[in-house]
Amino acid sequence: DLAIDAAHKSQESWSKSSPVERSTLLLKIADRLEVNLNEIAIAESLDNGKPIRETMAADIPLAVDHLRYFAACIRTQEGSLSEIDNDTIAYHFHEPLGVVGQIIPWNFPILMAIWKIAPALAMGNTVIIKPAPQDPLAVIKLGEVLNSIFPPGVVNVIVGSSPDIGAALVDSPDVNMISFTGSSMVGSKIMESGGKTMKRLLMELGGKGALIMTEDCDIQAAVGGIASVWGFHSGQICTAPTRVICHKSIYEETVNTLKATSEFMTVGDAREESTLVGPVITEAHRDRVEAFIQSGIDDGAEVIVGGERPNMNGYFVAPTLLAGCNPDMHVVKEEAFGPVVVVMSHDGDEHAVELANDSDYGLFSYVYAGNTTRAYDLGRKLESGNVALNSIAPHMYAPFGGFKMSGVGRDRGRWGLEAYSEVQAINWPS
Ligand code: NAP
Ligand code: MG
Repeated sequence: DLAIDAAHKSQESWSKSSPVERSTLLLKIADRLEVNLNEIAIAESLDNGKPIRETMAADIPLAVDHLRYFAACIRTQEGSLSEIDNDTIAYHFHEPLGVVGQIIPWNFPILMAIWKIAPALAMGNTVIIKPAPQDPLAVIKLGEVLNSIFPPGVVNVIVGSSPDIGAALVDSPDVNMISFTGSSMVGSKIMESGGKTMKRLLMELGGKGALIMTEDCDIQAAVGGIASVWGFHSGQICTAPTRVICHKSIYEETVNTLKATSEFMTVGDAREESTLVGPVITEAHRDRVEAFIQSGIDDGAEVIVGGERPNMNGYFVAPTLLAGCNPDMHVVKEEAFGPVVVVMSHDGDEHAVELANDSDYGLFSYVYAGNTTRAYDLGRKLESGNVALNSIAPHMYAPFGGFKMSGVGRDRGRWGLEAYSEVQAINWPS
């Protein structure tokens, strides 16, 4: 209640600040994070268990870049577009929504926080952010930095270990929007209760990324792509290509190459530079991932790599490859949210698309084909918010969001900025 009250009180003056003022403050935050990169990266790694090489090279630098991107966006956003028909002109304006409640998951605390905070503040909203209870440390530190630069009440960080806290934000009539990243199950609950107060909603939910390989694709390139994300943050990412759909003629070679590549994935202490795969977030989550792997084995999948708990102190899961899977298996339908890749075979492009789209999710998918035209044609047929062609690299400012159970709305880029606005059109006769 105190956070909602503080966000309310500061909202009017914040929304009246000029875009240039807001942009300048966002740039200051970016500089401050860059200067304190080591400290925040270490807090993130210690709290979360993700390898220090990831937080230093990806999480924090990307967060800094997002701040600068939205700082630039808001300087050029202001000003209206005119639309002229025969006898009427309309100008439209993006207005801030007011108070935005932001609820984030534990897998990328700082990056998710900045994805949400930067565009919301740029647009003139005030925010209340709730990190996940498993790893709030770096976001608390971020809150200190933000509060040393923004006026009081503009950014509020709330923490706690009860789902009631997030639910209170969703239920409050004084919170105008909920921007949520997390599981589809919690997302559904939020949509249901948010409906009572007609919340504006941005939902970034689960994923089970399909990766199609045609018979003429570059197998080494595809396997290199899969392997580079397989153990990344111990597979706790919603966009990973964890559902490999490979042409039957290259199936064996693909499985063997994946197996050989997995030998380079060093599992270990997150603080070591040489570690590629750290622990998963909690003991409960390790148990969940292990049960997930076991269900695959029970359903008849063949364990090619991993499958056994590493003999180490900590909540480690070995990178695991399950082959011979079919679309009815739980391990094919659901997210592992751990370093688990499943492989199925297809007998042609049409079959590959059918298998890829046979999913409740549609967040990020991948196509590896002999040429870009074929990859493009396949990509356009996928029910997926993003598709990468002959690559696993995402464009950091492309619209990001899901089809189907993977979400509603789009983060990032101009879509991400406008998501935090109400649009008003002013009409008059010409
Ligand atoms: P989660 O269980 O859905 O929790 C996410 C957040 O929601 C946490 O802060 C949680 O806090 C809060 N929460 C739980 N119940 C709530 C309720 N009834 N009302 C309001 N807030 C509530 O997800 P997670 O386990 O942290 O993260 C993993 C999931 O996130 C995966 O499904 C993954 O695919 C998804 N994800 C999606 C994206 C994307 O951009 N699409 C990115 C990253 C992760 P409490 O636990 O304290 O309740
Ligand atoms: Mg949870």
